[in-house]
Amino acid sequence: MCGVFGAYSQDGSPVLEDIYLGLCALQHRGQLSAGAAWTDGGSVHIKKGLGLVHEALCQSELAAIPAHTAIGHVRYATAGGTRPENCQPLGANYAQGPVAIAHNGNLTNARALSSYLANRGAIFQTTCDSETIIQLMAHQPGTVQLEALESALARVQGAYSLAVLLEDCLIAARDPWGFRPLVVGRRGETYFVASESCALDIIGAELIRDVEPGEILVIDRRGMISRKMRRKARRHFKCAFEYVYFARPDSVIDGRSVYRARKELGATLARHGGLTKDAVVAGMPDSGTLAALGLAEEAGMDFEAGVVRNRYVGRTFIQPTQRVREAGVKIKLNPQTGIFKGKEAVVVDDSLVRGTTAGRIVSMIRESGAAKVHMRIASPPVRYPCYYGIDTPSSEELIAAQTTIAELCEKIDADSLEYIGCDELCRAIGLPRGELCTACFDGDYMEEEEEDNLLEV
Ligand code: AMP
Repeated sequence: MCGVFGAYSQDGSPVLEDIYLGLCALQHRGQLSAGAAWTDGGSVHIKKGLGLVHEALCQSELAAIPAHTAIGHVRYATAGGTRPENCQPLGANYAQGPVAIAHNGNLTNARALSSYLANRGAIFQTTCDSETIIQLMAHQPGTVQLEALESALARVQGAYSLAVLLEDCLIAARDPWGFRPLVVGRRGETYFVASESCALDIIGAELIRDVEPGEILVIDRRGMISRKMRRKARRHFKCAFEYVYFARPDSVIDGRSVYRARKELGATLARHGGLTKDAVVAGMPDSGTLAALGLAEEAGMDFEAGVVRNRYVGRTFIQPTQRVREAGVKIKLNPQTGIFKGKEAVVVDDSLVRGTTAGRIVSMIRESGAAKVHMRIASPPVRYPCYYGIDTPSSEELIAAQTTIAELCEKIDADSLEYIGCDELCRAIGLPRGELCTACFDGDYMEEEEEDNLLEV
């Protein structure tokens, strides 16, 4: 997963400090690298590096650059390794002018496209799927940039929410299926595009609306123009996992508040019943807190901040090895002493992936004296890998794909374990099932077009 941000100021005021601040608000979407790109008339300039936004970029340096249009990116690697050259934005100065691109999502036909292009002389600088879009543009000699981008996007498949910088214009584009979120906002004479609305809040911009699936917004001196992509989707596949886990709860995605969705997911668990009223409800911080609150409210039970999280340890899931992941969980979470003693505990988390976190937390809460520990997961079992931008492991590592729920309950040593169903998930989010991507839960992947139809440039 990644975060993208972009700005275009019509009155010429500098925007790079806004880019820095916007990226800070999107930090949860990627911690591997951060970068910003801008143009100065003729060519593209890029500053980027590994690490968090404040490690990779210098706020005061960016603030001193007079560019009135720029884009930024925070990266969480799903395609391509963690090498410095894969940090985004990616940029090039080719025959038609400067181009820079910040991409959130995964292109599912990038491998076929890049070998097609490499066989025709393209020299790839990175192993990032996003570079395919730039190479497709550059392989259309004599075609003006916007047209070249539109025809490149007609050939790529999968998930892409993009902020693109062309010569004196900012583009926001969201794939026809709508996998990843993308919004547009405004503050005075400056337009912004962002992966999530929380990034607009931080810079005092107002949310105008979501970029629609299949829409290309062109923002320049004259204002904002909406264009339709050539490729049409049979149905939308907006990622349900954004609401479950990934997005920040103060964001509104496709008109649905992430905060409300999370509380409703917890309330849904409460409606399953089977819990004693005097049990203590605790959420796994921070991912399960809102669902736990929703569960406790709906069931009329007590919510306690029963587990404390060390906020200086990042998202454990992102650590590359199982050993580090396990150590990470121990460093990260600790139950409050005294709260669970002699009581039944209901522990809520947003999702269960490999089962590492749930197993650890159940044993911690037992050790702190709970009479029983009930685990509740505010999403359906994750059984299938994501090909659209979330780093879900292969099915062999997905515990729910390997065992039944009863076996899993035993494995994590809980007294009971419950999930919610896919229909319940969609209801809690408030979007019809036919609008949402639930592939990681039910294997309902998008049907892909034949690759041969997409190759010819
Ligand atoms: P696990 O310990 O492998 O079962 O992972 C479950 C925990 O990881 C939950 O607390 C989730 O909040 C979190 N999580 C789920 N999906 C992701 C993801 N794609 N990236 C980072 N963390 C995740």
